[in-house]
Amino acid sequence: MKFRNFKTVPKMIFGRGSFDQLDDVLADERTELDDFVVFLVDEVHKDKPLGQRIPATGKDMVIWLDVTDEPKTTYVDALTVEVQEYAAKQVNGKNPVSVVGIGGGSALDLGKAVALMLTNEGGSASYQGWDLIKNPAVHHVGIPTISGTGAEASRTTVLTGPDKKLGMNSDYTVYDQIIMDPDLIQGVPKDQWFYTGMDCYIHNIEALNGTYINEFARAFGEKSLDLCNEVFLQDHPDSDEKLMMASYMGGQSIAYSQVGACHALSYGLSYVMGYHHGIGNCIAFDVLDDFYPEGVKVFREMMAKHNITLPKGITKDLSEEDMEKMIRTASGLAPLWENVYGPSWQEKVTPELLRNLYSKM
Ligand code: NAD
Ligand code: ZN
Repeated sequence: MKFRNFKTVPKMIFGRGSFDQLDDVLADERTELDDFVVFLVDEVHKDKPLGQRIPATGKDMVIWLDVTDEPKTTYVDALTVEVQEYAAKQVNGKNPVSVVGIGGGSALDLGKAVALMLTNEGGSASYQGWDLIKNPAVHHVGIPTISGTGAEASRTTVLTGPDKKLGMNSDYTVYDQIIMDPDLIQGVPKDQWFYTGMDCYIHNIEALNGTYINEFARAFGEKSLDLCNEVFLQDHPDSDEKLMMASYMGGQSIAYSQVGACHALSYGLSYVMGYHHGIGNCIAFDVLDDFYPEGVKVFREMMAKHNITLPKGITKDLSEEDMEKMIRTASGLAPLWENVYGPSWQEKVTPELLRNLYSKM
């Protein structure tokens, strides 16, 4: 048996107001006069107070990200070219000394992806997979402004490419530094707060109930789940702090275990129907009583408490071709199903099972 050699984020700052320390963090990277930093910031912050607090100076570059769609390889490549063209004009083509991703899972993944593509040639689609990245990335800093995905902690950047939705998974993908400032997640719209928060809750349920579970992953997963319960069932006064830590710890938990049935189904919903990760997970989780009875029961209590209603009947007008594509996408995620059923998962995960689950959504 070979165990995973787990790369984690080496430096992190946690606390309200800690965003102000970004300037100090970057000062350590700036050594020459024409050194510059690229800030990739979710456009939602452009005319908000956070947009005014970006510590850009000198030749730094601020790019406002369009996250209407979840990150695509084409977008990553376009952003990379934009940085390279700017660098060619301004600083003789040298790379930035740091790339800072600020926003939700989408912006955090774009930050990682651009940092990787600045040092690895050939376009991001050619690196979708495991350990295909050859060169270390540019120094990169992640700052979440909505919590749940665990993207701040993970070794992947999830991208939709020409023929698949798959991350660039590598040790180089992991952020060099994260700043977790609970102030930044205030003001997230309620529905989105819930969907992205449930991503974290579902990571824990799937990890804790999976065959890959071990004490390392359980330690993080159980604590993260307790925090989710405090946030979503008890409206704890420190909910922002708790959700931010839950997200990070949920990410740590699945990094040493795996997600499960809900994420497999949700990938299909996303790839074929364009559902975003958080809401797609909620829609899928709501039909998984047989897989995660207790988890789904509590999830419904959380939905009721926060007046969340999910779209229903979403697959009823779907073409047979799309349904089959969705089933293929979901059944292709071998490690996720192995985590659910163990090594003999292929006997269990039949097209009929998946069709039946999709039909209930
Ligand atoms: P998101 O980043 O798409 O953001 C959701 C919405 O919230 C957007 O409209 C965004 O503009 C808005 N938003 C963000 N911060 C805000 C704030 N402070 N105030 C108001 N609005 C704000 O959503 P997400 O759920 O965080 O991330 C989903 C993405 O993360 C997907 O692309 C998914 O594939 C990816 N993901 C990555 C990993 C990983 O490990 N890399 C894990 C899970 C999901
Ligand atoms: Zn997830």
